[in-house]
Amino acid sequence: MNRSRSIFKRACRVLVGGVNSPVRAFKSVGGSPVFMRGGAGAYLKDVDGRRYIDYCLSWGPLILGHARREIMAAAERALRRGSTFGAATEAEMLLAERLKSALPSMELVRLTSSGTEAVMSAMRVARAFTRRKLVVKFSGCYHGHVDSLLVQAGSGATTLGIADSAGVPAAWANTTITLPYNDSEAVRRAFQKWGSRIAAVIVEPVAGNMGVVLPQNGFLRFLRKITTRHKALLIFDEVITGFRLCYGGAQTLFKIKPDLSCLGKIIGGGLPLAAYGGRRQIMEMIAPLGPVYQAGTLSGNPVAVAAGLECLRLLKEENPYPQLARSTEELLQGISFQAERAATPLRIHSLGSMFTLFFCAAPISDYQSAKRADTKAYAKFFQALLKAGVYFPPAQFEAAFLSSAHTGRDIKKTIKAAGKAFRA
Ligand SMILES: *Cc1c(COP(=O)(O)O)cnc(C)c1O
Repeated sequence: MNRSRSIFKRACRVLVGGVNSPVRAFKSVGGSPVFMRGGAGAYLKDVDGRRYIDYCLSWGPLILGHARREIMAAAERALRRGSTFGAATEAEMLLAERLKSALPSMELVRLTSSGTEAVMSAMRVARAFTRRKLVVKFSGCYHGHVDSLLVQAGSGATTLGIADSAGVPAAWANTTITLPYNDSEAVRRAFQKWGSRIAAVIVEPVAGNMGVVLPQNGFLRFLRKITTRHKALLIFDEVITGFRLCYGGAQTLFKIKPDLSCLGKIIGGGLPLAAYGGRRQIMEMIAPLGPVYQAGTLSGNPVAVAAGLECLRLLKEENPYPQLARSTEELLQGISFQAERAATPLRIHSLGSMFTLFFCAAPISDYQSAKRADTKAYAKFFQALLKAGVYFPPAQFEAAFLSSAHTGRDIKKTIKAAGKAFRA
């Protein structure tokens, strides 16, 4: 038995399912999860000494690769000055300034420790500001494990939500209206019916959590228009897209100004850090300025802030985005060619350096169509790549990523491994 297996066996006796986040258990791709020991650049190393080219990148944060020297150094320097103070620091102000200058819609910012916290708090302030209860979300969009957002669409497009997770009281799930992504007409009908009760529409401006699904032409603009008309807030959950698509977010790319934005993943440079922010008037509802309570013992943690600041500084200075897009294009063209050669039906969705390979012949525009993808075929593909030393996200409905540390050689090796996997 290899070390990964024996650790997993032991872990299962003390950790729920052996893991601390469900998808790490490899349930949807089968087999025993691989336990990791280290990462460097584009590579992950497991406890058995095997090396993988990593396209999961901790689910998005590592846009500059694992253990980037400057980020580690900044975090180490901060750590030596003390790991946490529970008091205000200058670096938090600097990070907020950086976020605001990259995303001008974030006039006032609050730092949190996780994306879930950021989204949960943004919704709380949206409800307080509008004095309304309902929130519109889109099926297949994930916004962290916030109770009322763990809701999936029923079959009727505009039915009020049904809880997707056990332990979420129906009364909370009923505060969520779940609609199909990219369906402007469904949004219009929802506002017709509940317009004066809708506090906010929350959306992944480029969906990543049902696999990458792009917003259709005009969809985001329509959301901006209809929320404004009904005095509801538009919340962009940019936890994945923030600093992934460009220096800024999807809002920069699509030139749409949300009322509130949520960030996470990349902005912590690989440490636990997230943020929400938006229009000053809305954000001033939050304590200590207003009546919305939200706090955190480790919020704005100095080590995480130092890593995040350094990561953003590098992104600004090096502007890796054009090269990332080119490398991703090269990888995906190669994979597409191999799939065609092996007559494997494959739909490749990508924007910048985020992408998904859907094992599916029909077009995909929302969760329902995404779910037609052949998850068994993906599982086989994943396992074949894993064997060849390439680590993809261990589930079909996830975004994969490239980092600036991936080289042409890594890409060629990956294409070759993909070709072999398709043929097998
Ligand atoms: C990852 C993610 C979250 C949750 O962030 P955590 O740090 O895991 O709590 C929220 N929204 C989106 C779009 C995400 O991808």
